[in-house]
Amino acid sequence: MQKEYVSFTKEMKKDYTILIPNMLPMHFTLISKLLNNYGIRNEVLFTKGQHIKETGLKYTHNDACYPAIIVIGQFIDALQSGKYDTHKVALMMFQTGGGCRASNYINLIRKALKRAGFGYVPVISFSFAGLEKHPGFKLTLPILHRMMYAVFYGDLLMLLRNQCRSYEINAGESEALAQKWTNRLVEEMEKDRVSYKRVKKNYKLIIEDFNKILRKDEKRVKVGVVGEIYVKYSPLANNDLENFLVSEGAEVTVPGLLDFMLYCVYNSIADYKLYGRGKVKYLGIKLIYKFLLHKQMDLINIIKENSDFEPPTYFDHTVTLIKGYIGIGTKMGEGWLLTAEMLELAEKGVPNIVCTQPFGCLPNHICGKGMMRPIKEKNPNINIVAIDYDAGATEVNQENRIKLMLANSKDVD
Ligand code: SF4
Repeated sequence: MQKEYVSFTKEMKKDYTILIPNMLPMHFTLISKLLNNYGIRNEVLFTKGQHIKETGLKYTHNDACYPAIIVIGQFIDALQSGKYDTHKVALMMFQTGGGCRASNYINLIRKALKRAGFGYVPVISFSFAGLEKHPGFKLTLPILHRMMYAVFYGDLLMLLRNQCRSYEINAGESEALAQKWTNRLVEEMEKDRVSYKRVKKNYKLIIEDFNKILRKDEKRVKVGVVGEIYVKYSPLANNDLENFLVSEGAEVTVPGLLDFMLYCVYNSIADYKLYGRGKVKYLGIKLIYKFLLHKQMDLINIIKENSDFEPPTYFDHTVTLIKGYIGIGTKMGEGWLLTAEMLELAEKGVPNIVCTQPFGCLPNHICGKGMMRPIKEKNPNINIVAIDYDAGATEVNQENRIKLMLANSKDVD
């Protein structure tokens, strides 16, 4: 079959800039700088505002799910901004390659680009499932290796920053420290010093630095954030939810990106267990799963040994939490992980949960909103609220509902 998309060629690699929609500010800053170090010139889009959503709606059908509308709006807004030579930019879209609509966004983006007069702009699909080929964009093993560490570092920095920022005596210190470490880690990776021994040493140094942040001895309401991956993390999509919760006096817990990676890997194991699919693939995937679990356990142990910070939950345990609630075959979009993360938060003493609910997201309705009742029945101390996000929803409405949830907040201590 003839391909119908504009390829990102080797020639383009020389002088094109790839624009990347921001999802997780810390992780994406690390990954972006890392790719730049390898000659893949790129820029993460940190633009915000209602006009982006309106641009998305102008060029996409309004029944598309909310993350698609936002990403398209952000891309087209950047191309129309006059900041870039549109004949020297490409766009990059992260795809899981799963069965959900995210794997088809790329076609929606291309249609929208054509409508906006930018049909010549290449759109690169970043996917481990190898959905498309782009000769100018190749991820080598050294890049992937460093990207994996960028995810581990990003998760650790996000976790420590979140556990410090609501208590810090000197405002902004936790964020500044996370930024300082982001820059230092990128510099290190540039110099090729990326042994795992060094990564573990850095974990300790980072924790030591966060331990030094002076914190008030106060009790804060603990609030977890779960939901569809893009809306859960992206400040553009969730109207800066984390900052809003902190400004309301809460301590925020957001599960790390490694959990989502492990979930994607685990789903291939589930395919074999449930449907007998690909034994060879299963054996390979099982090794990757064990490898990532091992790395997660290292991080958990280092946090426990060197601080009083709450480490992430071991994923092999997270998987067991859904028993009696939902099956592992429910794996479209965020799937069973969404249910598992709510249960994980409840178990670790974070009973107040905001479930971010994008417009048009069926998986989230089933595994998030749909599971709230059974979760509440078995965990009476839990306080979950589903907040709807769509391009037309007003921020005030969302904030009022969150304030109401905070007013009814639960405390397990
Ligand atoms: S998980 Fe939901 S929001 Fe994400 S692509 Fe699927 S339907 Fe859309």
